[in-house]
Amino acid sequence: AKVWQRVKAFEGNPKQSDFKLVDEKLADTLKENEILIEAVYFTVDPYIRVLDLPTGLPAEQVARILDSKAKDFPKGSLVLAHVGWRSHAIINVTEPMNLGFKATIVPEIAGLSPSLWLGIIGMPGVTAYMAFLERCDPKPGEVVVVSAASGAVGSVVGQLARDKGCTVIGSAGSKDKCDWLKSLGFQHVFNYKETAPEEALKQYAPDGVDIYYDNVGGDHTEAVLNNLRVKARVLICGQISAYNQARDMVPNPYRKILRAEAKVQGFLIFKHLADFPRVRKEIISLVQQKKLQPRETITQGFKNMPQAFMDLFTGANFGKAIIKV
Ligand code: NDP
Repeated sequence: AKVWQRVKAFEGNPKQSDFKLVDEKLADTLKENEILIEAVYFTVDPYIRVLDLPTGLPAEQVARILDSKAKDFPKGSLVLAHVGWRSHAIINVTEPMNLGFKATIVPEIAGLSPSLWLGIIGMPGVTAYMAFLERCDPKPGEVVVVSAASGAVGSVVGQLARDKGCTVIGSAGSKDKCDWLKSLGFQHVFNYKETAPEEALKQYAPDGVDIYYDNVGGDHTEAVLNNLRVKARVLICGQISAYNQARDMVPNPYRKILRAEAKVQGFLIFKHLADFPRVRKEIISLVQQKKLQPRETITQGFKNMPQAFMDLFTGANFGKAIIKV
């Protein structure tokens, strides 16, 4: 197997020299409940930057089963496996992998690429669905702000908010991304590299914000907290603007939350693995009805995995970042 390893802990922006590619020999024979898999698609996600796992570089993959000694995991099928940045692996399907994930067969569904099981039908999509629909209590007419809105999580949150009849304000880092969000039916979009969040909110949310879905932190968060409506809800999903910094620079925001009697909550998808089958069904149905539109940036080649990961922090990915082997 070819395996990408992290040479040392990340400091600041991840760099190519933080990674090394090594060869690893796998066992020659399989034991009961084991399968031999070969990666077909990988995902890279921002959390890799902040999670300090002993295994170094976590990542889920869609893999082909090359050989099997496990019931219900036939040779030739596709399977979701959370085994890191590796081309091949032997896994026991009865045991949990990284972050508690278990091997899951990827069903073939006409019109849906298996890579979507890493994005809209996978961890980011399930996060968006559960954290927004099941935690933020969105109501028609409410004003929703979502940051990193063209990304894997943000684009799903925005589309769900649109279909709830909310007024959606999305921010993203390029004109192309903003144009796509408009085409999805976001009422207002702004390029945060050209317009400060505070300015954008004056224009698009003069009466304040009901729901803030926070993927980014930093000055986005400060601006929205200054404009909370009474009984607002704030869902803290991620803080990507701070991941490469030594410390998060958001000034004490609690007074503003208190005054608005806003409800703030965190959400961590890895605590909700049991909900995946239920939510996946809902998302597949929404994608098939064209109510949710997936978008992916596919990087070709296992050797380019570090670059695809580093691109998350410069915004070079548009929609879900996927690597095709
Ligand atoms: P994305 O697909 O959105 O990729 C990251 C995007 O973030 C980039 O494309 C870039 O887009 C934007 N970005 C990067 N740096 C900055 C910055 N300094 N300021 C503003 N935007 C920036 O990633 P995901 O959708 O997978 O993740 C989005 C967020 O959700 C992350 O914070 C992630 O950690 C979090 N998350 C949390 C989960 C949970 O359980 N709580 C689960 C999954 C994700 P642009 O061009 O617009 O700048």
